Amino acid sequence: MKHSLNTLNACVEKCRLCPRLVHYREEVPPKKAFEDEPHWRKPVPGFGDPKAWLLITGLAPSVQGGNRTGRLFTGDESARFLFKALHDVGLANQPTSTSSHDGLRLHGCYMTAAVKCVPPQNKPTQAEFLRCHPYYENEIALLPHLKAVLALGKCAFDAYLSHVKAKGHTIRGMRFRHGEGYAFEGMPTLYTCYHPSPQNTNTGKLTNTMMKGVLKEIIKLST
Ligand code: SF4
Repeated sequence: MKHSLNTLNACVEKCRLCPRLVHYREEVPPKKAFEDEPHWRKPVPGFGDPKAWLLITGLAPSVQGGNRTGRLFTGDESARFLFKALHDVGLANQPTSTSSHDGLRLHGCYMTAAVKCVPPQNKPTQAEFLRCHPYYENEIALLPHLKAVLALGKCAFDAYLSHVKAKGHTIRGMRFRHGEGYAFEGMPTLYTCYHPSPQNTNTGKLTNTMMKGVLKEIIKLST
């Protein structure tokens, strides 16, 4: 349907198909620390290396991250944790992701979310998920060199499994477990990691060592 990631992303940025999410992304109050800054408040497209072998996927942008800065995993606590690990293993040129103009470059990987607008309580409805899914499908189709997909958290895992199922594979009995790999013939291998949100990283459920362990294993098996 779309001819390039750039044209797809331009189309995503203009989308207003989900009234509830359009209202939320435009009206959600800013955090006090950022209240004087301009906020993006639009759908947040994917970004990264168009020749990526690895796709890192979350469920949706966050209020203080993508919806504020216009780039996924940018400017919030999840970004701080994630990019330290990505830089440590050589997938990013710098250990921080603070704004869309901070010079960040991804090496061999692309980052996206299954739903492009920030949802209230981080929970899109099934109808919103399905409405946004064609963008996700197109994005994956426009990354022909993918060998691996890393789902950050169970919701991102379930979203990618929807894509796998649509391609005709059986997903029955597949359960999210941190640090697992799930192979599907003719498709990139799906890997899993707990989401790098503060509720996981501040409690020790996910540590930098654990995340680097997952990333190093994916690199070892895929490159
Ligand atoms: S969630 Fe997706 S389909 Fe819905 S308005 Fe945002 S970009 Fe459009």
